[in-house]
Amino acid sequence: MSQQPKAPSILELFPEETREAADLLKQAVPHMVRHDIPPTPMHYALWYSYCKGAEPDLNRRLDKIVSDFSSFPPETAAKLFREFIIRGELEDARAGQQQVIELVDDIEGDVKRSVSGSQHYQASLSQGLAALQEPIVDDLPSVLNELQLSTQQMQEQQEKFLYRLRSAQAEIQNLRSQLERAQAAATLDSLTHVFNRHAFTRLLEQALSGDTKGLALVMLDIDHFKHFNDQYGHPLGDRVLQHVGQLLRDMLPARGVAARYGGEEFCIILRDCFDVETAAEFAEQLRLKIQALRVKVRSTDKVLDTITASFGLTLAETGDTFDSLVTRADDALYQAKRNGRNQVHPPASNAALTA
Ligand code: GH3
Ligand code: MG
Ligand code: MG
Repeated sequence: MSQQPKAPSILELFPEETREAADLLKQAVPHMVRHDIPPTPMHYALWYSYCKGAEPDLNRRLDKIVSDFSSFPPETAAKLFREFIIRGELEDARAGQQQVIELVDDIEGDVKRSVSGSQHYQASLSQGLAALQEPIVDDLPSVLNELQLSTQQMQEQQEKFLYRLRSAQAEIQNLRSQLERAQAAATLDSLTHVFNRHAFTRLLEQALSGDTKGLALVMLDIDHFKHFNDQYGHPLGDRVLQHVGQLLRDMLPARGVAARYGGEEFCIILRDCFDVETAAEFAEQLRLKIQALRVKVRSTDKVLDTITASFGLTLAETGDTFDSLVTRADDALYQAKRNGRNQVHPPASNAALTA
């Protein structure tokens, strides 16, 4: 019954983040225009982070730079980019990022040349205009020649720049896909293809830092799994875990995200869940689906066994931290185990939220 599950793309995994990213980018552009900052990927990344506000130190430094300098020094941008944007990223993606940085540095060189070409052109133009204001213009042909020459040079530079920009765009797109693949691989659990614990921690902390209304956490633990492994062997146990991962991925995209919290335990972050009953209904559906899984011998299709899981859940409350929320869901899960397993247990608190 199992096919190798396909890893979801990072855009499918973080739909809210994608929307949020577009909004942040929209906010970043006016800052860049106001401070006359060239629209390079590196600057976009910096001002995107500025608008996100997750790095107060970066914001302080950007504020200071735009107040101290009339134009944004490119070497400072590169330094901040390395310090704040690259920091904490994945080892695997480092080579790709290095390429992006070099590419961006290259393009910046082109922008600089283009800008200095424009300045030269502007100087010639001013000279030409000044000459035209003289009562007698002796040297008008040579002024016009000079002007024509610099116009031509500038046009050539701009064309070269445009050409390089187009080829760089294709290259950046390619590197971005590589980076997305590396990030997706690093956030997913390799056996079950749901998020791993590290990604879960990040996602839940992120969810708790915003509006927590409608946020619910469901924890599930497969029942007597040690016995299952002892009886049928670890590889079959692994296949069961893969099937549970598949069920979670099939059920979840619209409602929330699922993660493997550890061994045979999974966590689900649900959105738009304003009462305990809604979260319990979801958990109950999942419980029934897990119970309906049939563990079969591949060659004969003979049913060997079934599995069950116990569930604990809770809604987020104002002031909840990662630990308080997880502990409440875990306590409810413990109660489900104590009451006989293969059931969904609501939290001890959250009563006020269901009234
Ligand atoms: P309970 O109903 O109380 O949860 O009992 P349990 O046996 O499921 O719980 P226990 O914590 O005693 O054992 C968990 C088992 O899960 C032990 C371990 O072998 C198994 N397990 C953890 N990770 C994996 C894994 O990646 N693959 C396999 N096959 N088994 C795993
Ligand atoms: Mg367990
Ligand atoms: Mg268990």
